[in-house]
Amino acid sequence: MGANRHMSVDSRGRYTPEVASEVMPGSEGPAGSRSHNLNSTRRASLMQEPVLVLNATYEPINVTAVRRAMVLMLKGVAQAEEMHNTEVHSAAHAHRVPSVIRLLAYRHIPQQSRALSRKNILLRDRNTCQFCVRVFPSSELTLDHVVPRSRGGRSTWENLVACCYRCNNSKGDRTPEEAGLKLARRPRPFTLHTSRQLMRLIGHRDERWRKYLFY
Ligand SMILES: [Zn+2]
Repeated sequence: MGANRHMSVDSRGRYTPEVASEVMPGSEGPAGSRSHNLNSTRRASLMQEPVLVLNATYEPINVTAVRRAMVLMLKGVAQAEEMHNTEVHSAAHAHRVPSVIRLLAYRHIPQQSRALSRKNILLRDRNTCQFCVRVFPSSELTLDHVVPRSRGGRSTWENLVACCYRCNNSKGDRTPEEAGLKLARRPRPFTLHTSRQLMRLIGHRDERWRKYLFY
């Protein structure tokens, strides 16, 4: 995973609708206890741990990585609200590692939905085949056009769902009705609301996030 590819607050601190893109549950290593003598591998993985980003109003708006959160803090764009009991060392300084940061200036959050991508569709559908309602690893899921492309079905949030290969094969070039399959739920665009739900899922891993997410 690239260090900067998924960042959601850009260099001027503006929010962009890329919420939680780097924090697919299970994509990070376990957040176990860490000594101060981090070797480079562990330091690199620590720098990619998720950090909850709050708006100036304490509203949770985003999840980013430790590395990006520390850049925002150094630039004076954000301050730490919660810290891990861990430090990373640069040439001259030791920096405590943030778990929750807050933007110092309020950011207006556009009610846009996220970029349409395979990864985001699987996130929205929680890696669950929308026909047999079983959970699969990403590698065992494909995207199904609910209305087949051959029937004019488009590649949109409302027409693409996570689907296991077995269901995809049995559906073939048919609509769900024709194939005798039923959608688990109507596919919707990925919104900030969906992102909040994901933040809560991720928040179970870090108790420092809880008071900002469970209210
Ligand atoms: Zn299936």
